[in-house]
Amino acid sequence: MDCPRCKTFGNVVEMKAASLNNIEIDLCEECGGIWFDKQELGKATNISKEDIDRFTEVLGNAKEFDKSRDTELECPRCNVPLFKYRYMYTSNIYIDECDKCEGVWIDKGELLAIVNYLEEASKIDPEKEAAILTKVKQIKHEYEQREKEFMDSLVTLDDRSRNPVSRAFGEVLQSIYSFLYKRGL
Ligand SMILES: [Zn+2]
Ligand SMILES: [Zn+2]
Repeated sequence: MDCPRCKTFGNVVEMKAASLNNIEIDLCEECGGIWFDKQELGKATNISKEDIDRFTEVLGNAKEFDKSRDTELECPRCNVPLFKYRYMYTSNIYIDECDKCEGVWIDKGELLAIVNYLEEASKIDPEKEAAILTKVKQIKHEYEQREKEFMDSLVTLDDRSRNPVSRAFGEVLQSIYSFLYKRGL
């Protein structure tokens, strides 16, 4: 199976079958990227950071991929374009998945980034969370108030309809709602 990342640079690099804590993967020694077959990435996120570190050392000198050079990848199994999506919808990690075989491509360094992200997400302490919630509810209230004013202003067509704050409220409200929803509120 050829490396999908190296392929975008015109290089044909055969990936090597390897085992990462008993999870079967295919890795590219050239760019340090990893191909996970269906559901293997989920298992890999339970691996400790130390084990991932040790594993990435094996990959040697490969530099982390510069994401600004990211292009569409092709599934090494099915040869169809991979679909880019944001891991957990809230992280800054973009990974490539195949709709057909559900395999996932991870560039060098991203597995560790995912494990770090999951660790951070799971340890919001209750006090901090309560403080955030209070703040969020307050913002929500303010924005709903502003939304009402904005709607009123549309009717009267006054200057407030050109207020950039009003224009952005939809997006802000949406993220607040999803924040509250995720916490079951
Ligand atoms: Zn590669
Ligand atoms: Zn595929």
